[in-house]
Amino acid sequence: MTATSIDGNAYAADLEREVAADVAALAEKDIRPGLATVIAGDDYASRTYQRRLQQLAEKVGCHYVCEALPADVLEADAIAAVGKLDADPRVSGILVLRPLPPQVSEVAVYRALDPGKDIESVHPVNTGLLALGRPRFVPSTPAAVFHIVDRFYRDSDRDPKTVLARSVMTFVGRSDNVGKPMVFMALARNATVVSCDVHTYKAGKLYDLTAQADVLVSAAGVPRLLSGEHVKPGVLAIDVGINPVDDPVTGRTHLVGDLDFESVAERAEAVTPVPGGVGPITDAWLLRNTVRAAQMAAAAEAARGNLGF
Ligand code: NAP
Repeated sequence: MTATSIDGNAYAADLEREVAADVAALAEKDIRPGLATVIAGDDYASRTYQRRLQQLAEKVGCHYVCEALPADVLEADAIAAVGKLDADPRVSGILVLRPLPPQVSEVAVYRALDPGKDIESVHPVNTGLLALGRPRFVPSTPAAVFHIVDRFYRDSDRDPKTVLARSVMTFVGRSDNVGKPMVFMALARNATVVSCDVHTYKAGKLYDLTAQADVLVSAAGVPRLLSGEHVKPGVLAIDVGINPVDDPVTGRTHLVGDLDFESVAERAEAVTPVPGGVGPITDAWLLRNTVRAAQMAAAAEAARGNLGF
């Protein structure tokens, strides 16, 4: 292997320290940031993620609350649960975990969020701000990807702004929560942007396009979709995919990414592993956004006070 394997756990630990310091600074003003999650049903991956966030919130000193709704929850009740958290002064940031049950419209629930507490930028107002390059909150997984890009280039004495403006950034996957926000962020950084999806693959064009990427980000959710032959020598390759696969020898399930790590690492300058790459940074960033939401709410409150309201 010739590439640097980016240590997402180390990057995340640094972020967690920064978040804990911000929480401590807010505590001196009697402010405690609070994270709320909304979960409906019993999806295993969502439950695991929810428990991980609870642990992290408590570790950095945030208040944490979970609205756990049954799988047969009515849409009106899911919206009411969000409304309750909007009104709760202990809650600074709200995360609605996907998937929601089929009878509950994601868009309807997202519209019910207070945009000031919408730390994943799923409310249409926040999505619009992000698309315009003026995000209120940068959603956690796209933020984690750009955190890796920025830190990797800075740590190797290159200015990320200059590098990206000269780079082709290729994204595989265009979901509303991961792929599309990254496209907006890359456009805001003046990168030349290529977005690929299933249709690119079916048209037989995926691998030509990934091979042109200076920075390649895969968020397709397809185990080992891309291997060394599909990437440009010297690429910075970031693997967002988290895919459970059964090991035919042990019979146990383990997680792999969208990239075949070993062969990509033979050609790349740097590559993120799965697990231990993007995932832990995503978690830390969500708490960072929770703290930002608390800071913004406190600043708005102080401004109201100054105006005599
Ligand atoms: P998603 O909503 O299923 O979207 C997948 C995207 O990939 C779609 O745009 C789809 O194209 C595209 N795609 C699927 N197969 C493809 C192929 N063969 N070639 C090219 N494009 C293909 O998934 P998601 O929520 O964005 O998540 C993607 C992956 O990231 C999953 O493995 C998920 O577990 C992981 N994830 C990780 C984190 C983290 O923090 N590390 C966070 C969130 C998600 P169409 O639009 O045409 O269908």
